[in-house]
Amino acid sequence: MEPPVEADQAASLLDAAADAVLNEQMVKAADLLLQADIRTLHAYAAFVMLPTAELLGFKKHARQARHEVHLQHPGLRMPTGVDAEAIFKRDGFRCRYCSCRVVRPGVRSLLTALFPDIVRWPSGKGGDRAKHAAFYALNGVLDHIQPYARGGDSSTENIVTACWPCNFGKEDHTIEELCLSDPRLRTPVVDDWDGLARLVRNRRKPAGTVAKLQTFPQWSTRPDIEGWLTSMNSETSLGVIEALRDLLVSLRKLSSVSLSIGQNLTVNIVCGGKSLGVLGISLAGDVDVPWLISGEKDWFKPFAKTLADAVPEAIFYETPRMWRVDGCGTARGQITVDELVGAAAVVLAGVEQLAGKQTRPLRQP
Ligand SMILES: [Zn+2]
Repeated sequence: MEPPVEADQAASLLDAAADAVLNEQMVKAADLLLQADIRTLHAYAAFVMLPTAELLGFKKHARQARHEVHLQHPGLRMPTGVDAEAIFKRDGFRCRYCSCRVVRPGVRSLLTALFPDIVRWPSGKGGDRAKHAAFYALNGVLDHIQPYARGGDSSTENIVTACWPCNFGKEDHTIEELCLSDPRLRTPVVDDWDGLARLVRNRRKPAGTVAKLQTFPQWSTRPDIEGWLTSMNSETSLGVIEALRDLLVSLRKLSSVSLSIGQNLTVNIVCGGKSLGVLGISLAGDVDVPWLISGEKDWFKPFAKTLADAVPEAIFYETPRMWRVDGCGTARGQITVDELVGAAAVVLAGVEQLAGKQTRPLRQP
């Protein structure tokens, strides 16, 4: 079955996203990865993954045979390391059955770690439906042409690159049973497409760039604000929670601003390869200003001053590492969430200005 044009579009978007990640353009990468999540592509993949042979009325004799065959096969079922890499390269990181471009193993999990809300990969029952469409449809694997369970060997002659849909759809059936032509008769297309291997085996950048990016707070475009708000301390009034929700929704709309949610909710500005935590709000309603600014102390000073002016009795002062805003609302001297939403307009304008006045501006397309 021919893959739809969306497969090619998605691969191109992923290619651009990989470049953006390597250039530490996280906003651009997030946007491209979102665009690549094309749902019609997901539907196509899910359809092809249905047991093709069952649709065609074949009996499943393969499974029973598998156990015996395993006993006859000494050695590994699948090539690993350099052998696997050589096969992907030989095949131009393309499925030899349907010719779609595939993503090398290991890349998807790296991007899920960086963009958990975009490159979604939930496991368990029903998880497949929510998986990111491009990685679901273009996941690259190695496939035995003559199935292993049917006596096929693990030589590089018998193993080709395949996309997940073709691999799952084929199952343990032979190409003759499925009326497929032998993919080895078609010369593989080898060009610049590398299955995004450069993200996991990065030669263009000094080693460790991607590992460094993994220390980013998780990049969330759709964090569960509602869930977090409902776990807030019961002493926080409903009116304040409402106002906080409005503020967070407005902040989230600003470019280069992300929210990360854990025990605390933090408002981050991503710029120049750094993620700066501007506000950290605890479930108890205490607000840390700033949360973490990675050495960008001076950059933060005007925001701190303006915010301190807008909150009654708040002060701003310098420490060796940062400019802080403290109020009298909490035992630790932080400002409270009530005070924060009371100054919502100032906070919004201030964060917007910070995001627009980045120390090392993001290169947007
Ligand atoms: Zn395929």
